[in-house]
Amino acid sequence: MSHDAIGADPTLADVQAAGRTIAPTVTRTTLIESPLLSARCGGRVWLKPECLQKTGAFKIRGAANKILSLTDAERALGIITASSGNHGRAVARVARDLGVRAVVCMSRRVGKNKVDAIERYGAEVVAEGETYDDAERRSFAMAADQGLTWISAFDDPHIIAGQGTIGLELAADLPDLNTVLVPLSGGGLISGVALALKSLRPSTRVVGVSMERAPMMHLSLEAGHPVEVAERDTLADALVGNIGGNNRHTFGMVQRLVDKVVLVSEEAIAEAMGLASVVHDLTVEGGGAVGLAALLDDQVTHPGAQIAIVLSGGNVAPDLTARGRQAWNQRELKRPQK
Ligand SMILES: *Cc1c(COP(=O)(O)O)cnc(C)c1O
Repeated sequence: MSHDAIGADPTLADVQAAGRTIAPTVTRTTLIESPLLSARCGGRVWLKPECLQKTGAFKIRGAANKILSLTDAERALGIITASSGNHGRAVARVARDLGVRAVVCMSRRVGKNKVDAIERYGAEVVAEGETYDDAERRSFAMAADQGLTWISAFDDPHIIAGQGTIGLELAADLPDLNTVLVPLSGGGLISGVALALKSLRPSTRVVGVSMERAPMMHLSLEAGHPVEVAERDTLADALVGNIGGNNRHTFGMVQRLVDKVVLVSEEAIAEAMGLASVVHDLTVEGGGAVGLAALLDDQVTHPGAQIAIVLSGGNVAPDLTARGRQAWNQRELKRPQK
């Protein structure tokens, strides 16, 4: 089994098929309006709370669509992936429910809580090396040796189509939507969401949001080809990682379908996590909060804005959420009093 995702980019019909395939497996998350943010930007702002999704992040949408597409023979042999977090969790959960053997390769630096979360779903965790790349290399080798199917976290048509179901739900729930803010790392999420929305609502502006620290897709777009730079520590740890030197789908789809990419500071990410917690009682991880951070920093303005913000995940240690609340409260104190 090759680990290379082959085939054409997904289409709207693929996203619609994914919606039917994964409906029994995933939660259809309900939009939450944010009066505070609506007032700030003179429009209306809704949050798409994938932090409340099963496994705590949207990644189960793509993982379910991919794993349910495998043949009986592939399922019998098992699946493998490399992930430090949400993708590994999603793959482990779907595999458990289907009775499929799953192996998740992780670097030795990944925290015990993340390893435990994946092992709780019954997946085998293989610790390898010091970086994600080390773990990924081991996963490719094991896939080849054992005939396991390798499951990409983002650069695969089934994964992209699965994540795109968020776009279908936004289009169905918000007839007047004109802007969507989507956390951006490898680009599976935004490629799917943009595919769905640009097909159903061509005038919707699709904005990707990454952290200032090593935003790989942004740097690749600027260079005109995938580039690799060193990873940096960030509150948005779910957004860390390269987009793959031989990227087959998401780089081109982001080039074609995404209107703009904005970058947010660590301070803004912390404040956004705090806002979500204090104002909306939502636990949102740093990578999930970058869209909120972009809005807080007035990086997205639009007359008559009807904005949806994807809160992509909520798997975060409580002390980081507490730090976010502190940052948000301090920001509010500094605001000029009327
Ligand atoms: C994986 C992930 C992202 C980024 O998704 P890509 O498809 O890699 O762009 C954003 N937020 C969270 C919480 C994630 O786990």
